[in-house]
Amino acid sequence: MYKDNKNFLFKKYYYLCVEFLNKRTMNIHPPKFVKRFIKHLYPTMIWSFNSEANSKKVFLTFDDGPTEEITYWILDTLDKYNAKATFFCLGKNVEQYNVQYNEIIRRGHVVANHTYSHLKGWGFDAGSYMQDVDMANDLIGSNIFRPPYARITVAQARRVSERYNIIMWDTLSADYSNVVTPRQCVKNVVDNYKGGSIVVFHDSIKASRNMKYALPRVLEDFKKKGYSCESIIL
Ligand SMILES: [Zn+2]
Repeated sequence: MYKDNKNFLFKKYYYLCVEFLNKRTMNIHPPKFVKRFIKHLYPTMIWSFNSEANSKKVFLTFDDGPTEEITYWILDTLDKYNAKATFFCLGKNVEQYNVQYNEIIRRGHVVANHTYSHLKGWGFDAGSYMQDVDMANDLIGSNIFRPPYARITVAQARRVSERYNIIMWDTLSADYSNVVTPRQCVKNVVDNYKGGSIVVFHDSIKASRNMKYALPRVLEDFKKKGYSCESIIL
């Protein structure tokens, strides 16, 4: 009983911390200890590449694809700027949109694991979570993983990091949010990135209104300031 209660409180606190991190992109600044607390709990998560802090490299990532409607548009836009990215794919989408998936690879980008069925970590034990991750890995074959919804328990993260690098972000476009305007979406990235930043967009219909407006403008900003976009290779 005590353990369950503690677990519940922990989840609530973790959720608040993640919400705080996301709100940073809406110009609400959470206290630094929030970030430190999450880093302490999840020491294996990578939020940005500090080794690249003095470089002019940024790491664009696209979650939830591939999709029939959006993937090609992203690939064409990236090509125009000679930008390379990392696509955190869902196993079920890789099966369904295999042509688009192969095109991501053919154009020189990196594909990574975002679970098979977009699993929200809480509510599953570490074993069944790993099963879903490994099912995606059978299709994708990557050592890079990002947890859907940023929701993963400490036990799951520990298991996942035995075989995968867990990649989070420090710059969230919030393209998926229907309360974020396209212009705010651009600002979320342009005002927050720096050398070594990991930037999140989505390869999904839901996010496409904001993403299609923001991505070319963000790429233009990178170009103007001399930044290059690279895939994550670990
Ligand atoms: Zn996702």
